[in-house]
Amino acid sequence: MRGLGCLVLLLAVLAAGYFFGRDYVERHPQDFPWTKLRLEDPVGRFTASKIASLGEEPQLCRALLATTAVGDEPVPPRRSPPNCGYEDGVRLAGRSTGYSPAGLVTSCPVAAALHLFEVRVVQPAAQRHFGKEVSQVHHAGSYNCRRIYGRDEGRFSEHSTADAVDITGFTLESGERVSVLGDWEGGAREAAFLRQVRDGACGLFSTVLSPDYNAAHRDHLHLDVANRGTNGWTMCR
Ligand SMILES: [Zn+2]
Repeated sequence: MRGLGCLVLLLAVLAAGYFFGRDYVERHPQDFPWTKLRLEDPVGRFTASKIASLGEEPQLCRALLATTAVGDEPVPPRRSPPNCGYEDGVRLAGRSTGYSPAGLVTSCPVAAALHLFEVRVVQPAAQRHFGKEVSQVHHAGSYNCRRIYGRDEGRFSEHSTADAVDITGFTLESGERVSVLGDWEGGAREAAFLRQVRDGACGLFSTVLSPDYNAAHRDHLHLDVANRGTNGWTMCR
């Protein structure tokens, strides 16, 4: 009889653990590798690797984007074999945060990551440090058929498939400009804002390179969605 009591107790504990665990996963899907990415969820431990894996699932990526960045427009594939081009290009348009120059085309995963970058990272950081919104994100482009650092040999850059974007600065709604080149080491507020933006980007992009990394990045934040697998490592410098 005692043995039976212990067994019942054990089963009760296991059942409670199972239901508590399942409930926890349902409330924190962003922290588990096997759950589906939803752009409305908070940024979590696996958000960046899930965004990067969208490169393998263009239809899923477009469907996700359609739920939020409704103005974005798919663009025709750009094919430049063997190392360059993209199939899943998106022109960023009609977003509440503008991009300058306008007409930025990125791969779909970058477009999805930039949506979260705007609403979860850039705007909260601007509110915190300036009490204002960012009206424009300044960039130095996405697609560029080249090798890393523009060298003649070696690996091709994530830019060669539009899976990267270089961010050079921001304009606040007041018209004030904050630039990576001029403000990374500049006024305390601007520098703190830029670092918060860099750190926040690390939850969304699998690679984030800032002026802290090297002199080649003194004037921009390089953000890319290199796919290193669901449990892939991220680089945040
Ligand atoms: Zn770059």
